[in-house]
Amino acid sequence: MSKWENDDEVQRFREYLKIPSVHPDIDYDDCVKFLRKQAEELGLPVVVYEFAPRKPVVVITWQGLEPDLPSILLNSHMDVVPVHEEHWTYPPFAAHVTEDGWIYARGTQDMKSVGMIHLEAVRRLKQAGAKIKRTVHISYVPDEEIGSQEGMKLFAASEEFKRLNIGFELDESGPHHKPDEFFAFHGERTSRQIKVTCVGDPGHGSFLSSGTAGEKIAYIIDKFMSYRAEQTKQIKSRTIRGFGEITTINLTQLEGGVQINVLPKSLSASFDIRIAPHVDHDKFEEMIDTWCKEAGKGVTYEYFVKNPQVPNSQIEGNPFYTALADTVKDLGITMKSSICPGATDARFVRLQGIPAINITPIRNTPLLIHNHDERLNIEEYKRGIDVMEKIVLAVANVGIRHTNHKGDSPMRESAKL
Ligand code: ZN
Repeated sequence: MSKWENDDEVQRFREYLKIPSVHPDIDYDDCVKFLRKQAEELGLPVVVYEFAPRKPVVVITWQGLEPDLPSILLNSHMDVVPVHEEHWTYPPFAAHVTEDGWIYARGTQDMKSVGMIHLEAVRRLKQAGAKIKRTVHISYVPDEEIGSQEGMKLFAASEEFKRLNIGFELDESGPHHKPDEFFAFHGERTSRQIKVTCVGDPGHGSFLSSGTAGEKIAYIIDKFMSYRAEQTKQIKSRTIRGFGEITTINLTQLEGGVQINVLPKSLSASFDIRIAPHVDHDKFEEMIDTWCKEAGKGVTYEYFVKNPQVPNSQIEGNPFYTALADTVKDLGITMKSSICPGATDARFVRLQGIPAINITPIRNTPLLIHNHDERLNIEEYKRGIDVMEKIVLAVANVGIRHTNHKGDSPMRESAKL
């Protein structure tokens, strides 16, 4: 530990990591207490909303010089996924630091690191006396890892959120393994979870009756799996950037039957589907409906998750995105925005018509989100704060005439953003 013993940035990060805000049944009180303390130290106002009981949303605000302009939201979630402690080299909530600077803890990547990077960037900027035009809100939300139903979903749809007058949001992506690249996303796929149930007449296992549940379910599984095979072909042949740009289907559960020599009354198959943004969602739905009709009588389906399609954030010509991209580029880092293969809280913000970009400013790091031995090196954490400082300054000042590093003076279009 020695080397970082007196490093406040590291110690604050470790303090946050040590709070076991892990599913299930999280008590968020210690997170709220910790964040209130941070706001107090920074001399910034903090508001704690509770849109559902025991599900606090913490918002720390750094007011800009022109508070009427649309603001910037830096969002992170406070919750982390469960651990299999026996597979960890160091206890997952001890935030142990190795001799070579690796902090081992659940949340070092997903995403307490990002939440603290947001805060430390603002802290550094404030201490340096930086001036920002737009107000910056730093939010900490609950329950992202269990679908955000009582977290960002309620917050983003609230009057309180509207009053924050947000013009641009930053949320999580994931660390990049390369030394000079960031993952960034401007859109997400749509989650759908469907269970198809096929009913047939029971009978003896030695007959060759028609209209059996088995025949129907075979037809259904074949349709879903053929679609899946098509997508697999595409990912092999087309120049697409990862899973985010194709539709994935996985058969995840099979149920039914009572005994091996009895024709089952019903058999069901459940599928986890993630629809790519370019796919016509209504047509996709109709296609499934048609398959079920074709499979025969007594075939029904039920959606367990049926998320609405959320339009991608427009990045071309968006001055906030341009400011973000230019900042990253000036640092010699590559950032190509693509579609997020998973789901994040940014979808609820996009649903409100607010552009959102997922970016975790951490590189040179193996992707260990939700994995054993999730860890982050202190050097990369600090480099993340360096980058975020510049990003915050750039996006919070969009609309200001300034000189770039080459010496010319481009006008960042302010208009009515
Ligand atoms: Zn996350």
